[in-house]
Amino acid sequence: MNFGFRSSLCESCAHKQEVVSGTGSRFLLCQASRTDPKYSRYPHQPVVQCEGYVVEGESKSGECRPEDGAARGR
Ligand code: SF4
Repeated sequence: MNFGFRSSLCESCAHKQEVVSGTGSRFLLCQASRTDPKYSRYPHQPVVQCEGYVVEGESKSGECRPEDGAARGR
């Protein structure tokens, strides 16, 4: 889902979670904040640089390495 922050890393991050309020407002929750206090629960948008960024579909346990993409032909 796009939260309207197309330039934000959070949009394509494996750590993001959509939260919808009772009034229908949508928020982007950073699940990394559950285990690491340096991340905001609801980061200010757009996020343009983040060391916790993990491409959706990649492992959350490690960094996205160039060789990972190469192994899949990217
Ligand atoms: S780890 Fe960074 S890029 Fe990913 S959802 Fe949290 S704040 Fe956004």
